[in-house]
Amino acid sequence: MKVVNPATERVIKNIKIDDHLSIELKYQLAVQAQQKIVRTDIAKRLETVAHFEALLLKQETRLANLLTSEMGKPINQAIGEIRGARSRIAYFLENSERVLAEEVVLDDGHFREVIAHEPLGVIANISAWNYPYLIGVNVFVPALIAGNAVLYKPSEYTTLTGLEFQKLWAQSGLEPGLFQTVTGRGEVGKILLELPLDGYYFTGSPVTGKFIYEQVAKKMVPCQMELGGKDPMYITANNHNLRQVANSAVEGVYYNNGQSCCAVERIYVHQDVYHDFINLFVKEVKQMKMGDPINEEVFIGPLARKEQMAYLQAQVDDAVANGGKVLSGGKAETRKGYYFQPTVIINASHDMKIMTEESFGPIIGIQMVKDDQEAIELMKDSTYGLAASVFSDDQAQALKIMDQMKTGTVYWNCSDRISPRLPWSGRKQSGIGVTLSETGIRAFTLPKAYHMRSKI
Ligand code: NDP
Repeated sequence: MKVVNPATERVIKNIKIDDHLSIELKYQLAVQAQQKIVRTDIAKRLETVAHFEALLLKQETRLANLLTSEMGKPINQAIGEIRGARSRIAYFLENSERVLAEEVVLDDGHFREVIAHEPLGVIANISAWNYPYLIGVNVFVPALIAGNAVLYKPSEYTTLTGLEFQKLWAQSGLEPGLFQTVTGRGEVGKILLELPLDGYYFTGSPVTGKFIYEQVAKKMVPCQMELGGKDPMYITANNHNLRQVANSAVEGVYYNNGQSCCAVERIYVHQDVYHDFINLFVKEVKQMKMGDPINEEVFIGPLARKEQMAYLQAQVDDAVANGGKVLSGGKAETRKGYYFQPTVIINASHDMKIMTEESFGPIIGIQMVKDDQEAIELMKDSTYGLAASVFSDDQAQALKIMDQMKTGTVYWNCSDRISPRLPWSGRKQSGIGVTLSETGIRAFTLPKAYHMRSKI
């Protein structure tokens, strides 16, 4: 399989991909390794994870450069991602032992009732390319801490990073076989579905997610889905600092070239501040530097995937055909590399794909609303339910709107933010299950109930 640099369109590496036989061997190794460590002390596993975290720090520059070269993420954002992953690991290191400890829920001298959190066994972690460190760490770190083995299938677009994870775990002293990377395209991911694994943890698109969920259903094992989003942002009339709001909105839309599951994907603005907001927003967009992602000043690099250029163009064309007006960008760059201009479309409406289908790129539709009620209805009008944000000087007004969102996450005066202390989850087509927080630590275990009667 060829690994292509999306900024130059040059092949940077040829990779040998896995097949049925090699994956079966990896699985057997994983089973043996998991059985070997399952009774070991969690303290030892935490020590290994701490080594892994230290290696991320030590090798930060090299790893960030590798990610930028295979996926096109601007170098500062690649460094930021690795640092973000380290802070998530720090949270897991600090909290896992307590969260996974046995709980004595009754001890009356006659009966003792205990809950133990048992690892699942061997799990598959089928992952996406947009934040391989963050979404990888969300799954494989707590899974390993809990005592599981992991077969990690990176996206084909971040295969080199996926292979680095395996090397880093080996260097950290992890039991051989406990973490193995499986390389290849979707077809290789499918082979994992044929194995009798004990859990499936997927991050990616709803189409693939549904396919995997259906396949795994027959196995009756835990299956988590972190899928896409069409996150709305609402700018109320109640904003004294519109400049700052516009700045936050630009960050929410365009960070990582809009290729974030929780990127702001549609904006609603109260009619009283619509024109002022748009002027400030477009001004900010025009100041963003686009170019070679290895340049530290660049904020917008190439898209990770070539096919995404035609997809984004179709959304822009559809918006224009339905009355949208392009105020910035609107097409791919003519230079080499998968560059799409940061695009702003106003007069947007829900008749346009840009307001209803995940864009996953540097394009945004902005729609004017007459009041909060109209904004709430439009924000809720989506098959997705990942996150939603409200900008307002009035906390009570914001909370009233946030409470009505059918999303796993709601933001007041911020967006595109994930905390290891809070559960990350989707509603509707955005997925099922939780990563991060205490729930996300226990997500790789099953509770076992012990009823212990001391005398008969
Ligand atoms: P895809 O669904 O295309 O791919 C995800 C993973 O599944 C990849 O490793 C892919 O391999 C693999 N895969 C593809 N087909 C199959 C199959 N039939 N069986 C098993 N595995 C398969 O998603 P993307 O990688 O393009 O990721 C983008 C999506 O991820 C967006 O929708 C985004 O919103 C979502 N996402 C959600 C997050 C969340 O937390 N909710 C976080 C990050 C992203 P290959 O790439 O080699 O084809």
